[in-house]
Amino acid sequence: MARTAFRTRALTKVYGEGETAVHALRGVNLDIPEGEFVVLLGPSGSGKSTLLNIIGGLDRASDGEAWFHDRELTVMSDRQLTRYRRDHVGFVFQFYNLMPSLTALENVELVTEIASNPMDAADALALVGLTARADHFPSELSGGEQQRVAIARAVAKNPTVLFCDEPTGALDSTTGRTVLKVLKDVNETLGATVMIVTHAAATAQMADRVIHFADGTIRESVINETKVSPEEIHW
Ligand code: ADP
Ligand code: MG
Repeated sequence: MARTAFRTRALTKVYGEGETAVHALRGVNLDIPEGEFVVLLGPSGSGKSTLLNIIGGLDRASDGEAWFHDRELTVMSDRQLTRYRRDHVGFVFQFYNLMPSLTALENVELVTEIASNPMDAADALALVGLTARADHFPSELSGGEQQRVAIARAVAKNPTVLFCDEPTGALDSTTGRTVLKVLKDVNETLGATVMIVTHAAATAQMADRVIHFADGTIRESVINETKVSPEEIHW
């Protein structure tokens, strides 16, 4: 059995208070083994991003526990959370958040310059198949290429875990498949735990584990026995 990378117990998140309070997470119990490729599915507004942001150290829970290996994220100071993110976590978002005035390579180098154990930036671009585009600016790249730069940037810090929030949300299905294939490669070649949040249900076909999320809780967590490759996914 692989070690547990993430564990949450009775994790809750409430935004606001009183009559206008929003219960984004209502007691989430999660166990993610190290090295898994996990897809978290659920309708819009069900709390998926909130969960990802808390276990990724970007946001704080209201109550309950979240652990990364033997470290309890929910008791960490801001400084400790920043260090946790810097040393262990890569993020990929729906909108690529690249710096428009920097080339693809320079966007990746922004991260490799501050990470504690980075890859070579050019190697990270090679991993996503963009060596030939290294000197291009984001405005000269397609949406899929920009997302691959964002993945290279996230991966270049050699993260233990890669969190992807709707990574194919702005892409057509062909380009989306290319991006999913890159994420799968990262999972396999670097051994990073990958967790993808999406409402594109077909993505679940390539996962090791599929978590169904609704109304701030996990409805079901299932091991996917019949995985398909990203190329075979249709949506
Ligand atoms: P999902 O990613 O599944 O679409 P979210 O985690 O973004 O869902 O949001 C869950 C619920 O929490 C939603 O009702 C949303 O409106 C609310 N929410 C998210 N972030 C905030 C915030 N910063 N302030 C207030 N409410 C929020
Ligand atoms: Mg979301």
